[in-house]
Amino acid sequence: SLVRSVLRSKIPLQTGRVYYSSTVPTTKLFIEGKFIESKSSEWTDIHNPATNEVIGRVPKATQEEMLAAVKSCRKAFQSWSETSILSRQQVFLRYQQLIKDNLKEIAKLITLEQGKTLADAEGDVFRGLQVVEHACSITSLMLGETLPSLTKDMDTYTYRLPLGVCAGVAPFNFPAMIPLWMFPMGMVCGNTYLMKPSERVPGATMLLAKLLQDAGAPDGTLNIIHGQHDAVNFICDHPDIKAISFVGSNQAGQYIYERGSRNGKRVQSNMGAKNHGVVMPDANKENTLNQLVGAAFGAAGQRCMALSTAVLVGESKKWLPELMEKAKKLRVNAGDQPGADLGPLISPQAKKRVNELIQSGIEEGATLLLDGRNVNVKGYENGNFVGPTILAKVKPHMKCYTEEIFGPVLVVLEANTLDEAIDIINYNPYGNGTAIFTTNGATARKFTHGVDVGQIGINVPIPVPLPMFSFTGSRASFRGDTNFYGKQGVHFYTQIKTITSQWKAEDATLTSPAVVMPT
Ligand code: NAD
Repeated sequence: SLVRSVLRSKIPLQTGRVYYSSTVPTTKLFIEGKFIESKSSEWTDIHNPATNEVIGRVPKATQEEMLAAVKSCRKAFQSWSETSILSRQQVFLRYQQLIKDNLKEIAKLITLEQGKTLADAEGDVFRGLQVVEHACSITSLMLGETLPSLTKDMDTYTYRLPLGVCAGVAPFNFPAMIPLWMFPMGMVCGNTYLMKPSERVPGATMLLAKLLQDAGAPDGTLNIIHGQHDAVNFICDHPDIKAISFVGSNQAGQYIYERGSRNGKRVQSNMGAKNHGVVMPDANKENTLNQLVGAAFGAAGQRCMALSTAVLVGESKKWLPELMEKAKKLRVNAGDQPGADLGPLISPQAKKRVNELIQSGIEEGATLLLDGRNVNVKGYENGNFVGPTILAKVKPHMKCYTEEIFGPVLVVLEANTLDEAIDIINYNPYGNGTAIFTTNGATARKFTHGVDVGQIGINVPIPVPLPMFSFTGSRASFRGDTNFYGKQGVHFYTQIKTITSQWKAEDATLTSPAVVMPT
């Protein structure tokens, strides 16, 4: 199968300094069009989060390997950037079909490495696929501007041109979608791309690379390295890398933004979140509670756009018991089990952290309405499971509110008025997403104008924009000034050249030097 061909080939590891007797499959590097075994002596285990079994190993690429990957990107840039835009478009037209054809296989690998349910994993691939589909409109997206006859015989026009080698650093929670926000947009603009997937879930990126090769992307246009801090520092420092796209935590994102910018690179950094769902008493109750529960607990809360905080305004606080009943009914199970609503967290450390944050909420005076800490998943006793958890009567100073939990925990605050709810949201440093549930247009309009948040849903709980728009998180959820995908993505991955030309008729030749500043 495709998986075996690029990722799961069982080559035992033999390295210079350390010898691994285990034959768990190793993740390859992808350099100059070849899937190659790293010579590294440092490897990280990949686990199935539902069982904690080791299912593979991923290398921390050596300096030599990382240098070879950038060199390959740089060499390929010379021809790829000169390849006609129609040819680049054709590669991505073929690519989107290959992703569709292999969607289920990629999703299975995501469930294995990341833990989310199969249906959710298919959504992960699908939302990335939509970016690839949009990238196929590059012939319109890359159009420049023109203005004829600025003065006699003079025209000005602009080209949007690629930057060179670009790099992407991805998180664990969307193993397909987020890499697909990165290299297809970068490459279709004519850049070549160095990708570093999350070391926890590298499999999907490797499959996607194989499919891109099958779609006709020339050797060296995409290279993949693996690793953690050293790989990230390498990307931030290497002078041939002109732009970095990062998605992940604030700690890493701010660091990469600062280090990359200091080295003169463009950096776009999408980071953590605390997304509030405001429930007005006039909302459609059934619809709202279902939306809220789905968006809080889906993917075990491991989405940057998870609706992890509910703000119940006025009388809507009476809906809490029904909210709890709905959350209680969700089925926690391994992601590949039929009927699973949510799967495990990514690691035992993540589970421990989430449990500690729940405990801190209780200690600070919140009410534990639903406790998922001791959830029992039959047959998967070693998995990193936490069941749906609701903390009510939460106040903004509590740690369970100030920190991004990134687990299946809904914290519930109360407000007397819409103004109070808006103040709560604007006081929170994050600005990724927010939603309001109401049947009143004026209320919704006041909310959208009043909140300082980059992505807003009106009766839409997870308002992640489709790729003809851009992903526009703000404040502490974003560093940089040009967003991911859509027109913004094309702007990020291109620079402008402005050409001013004058084609005079022969009889209009200047007769003396023009020494004055032209006006
Ligand atoms: P993470 O920051 O731990 O890892 C992201 C990437 O950075 C990985 O490739 C990792 O190897 C690297 N990395 C991690 N720590 C580093 C460090 N100290 N220095 C340099 N590199 C480092 O994030 P994660 O746990 O994989 O992902 C979860 C986070 O991502 C959450 O905070 C979530 O909100 C955020 N996220 C944001 C968005 C968004 O679009 N705003 C989307 C998805 C996830």
